[in-house]
Amino acid sequence: MRTILVVEDEPRIAGLVRDYLEHAGFAVLTAGDGAGGLALARARRPDAIVLDLGLPKVDGLDVIRILRGDSSVPIVVLTARGDETDRIIGLEMGADDYVVKPFSPKELVARVRAVLRRAEARPLSSEHFAVGDLEIDISRRRVIAGNRIVELTPTEFELLATLAREPGRVWTRAQLLDAVHGFSLETYERAIDGHIRNLRRKLEPVGSGARYVRTVHGVGYALEDLEEPTG
Ligand code: CA
Repeated sequence: MRTILVVEDEPRIAGLVRDYLEHAGFAVLTAGDGAGGLALARARRPDAIVLDLGLPKVDGLDVIRILRGDSSVPIVVLTARGDETDRIIGLEMGADDYVVKPFSPKELVARVRAVLRRAEARPLSSEHFAVGDLEIDISRRRVIAGNRIVELTPTEFELLATLAREPGRVWTRAQLLDAVHGFSLETYERAIDGHIRNLRRKLEPVGSGARYVRTVHGVGYALEDLEEPTG
């Protein structure tokens, strides 16, 4: 059984979310503040986290920042209507999806299932890409940079896989958002910049410059074309 950690300071909402997730077949852990959430995330290693952004002790955005220091656990954030800036910052920092309050618990469960599906997807294809000393094994969801196995969040992995499938192709932020989230109703294109930044930080050694993921000014991003020497 997969475990979901719910970090939410309003007991009524936490209880509602727990009930729906349990009904959907998940084991649920809850924490009422950011510090407790971080402690549970470390101790129990949940399969996904539902995280309110407005939290006492350690704020939701700080929770994301701290978690992303060493974890690629899928994160779905809960935000208040009107907190668009926080929502975008949350996605930029590496959250995988968001739901706006007041939300339908069924919708939230669907989003949690979707991020888990993306995190656990095992496509039948045995796609394998190599760009420079970067290896991307789609079927095993594994990325190796140099001799290091790189741990990516579901969103970062989808982003890299999308870019790698068509090396050299220039993608707009809207196209990438659509490819990784499967929807672009609300085009938080800036969030793509955040995920790209995180990807580069993980893939590209400090000081090496952007070797793999190229910024195409005024358009978007492309993975370095395989035909082109990357040295
Ligand atoms: Ca709150």
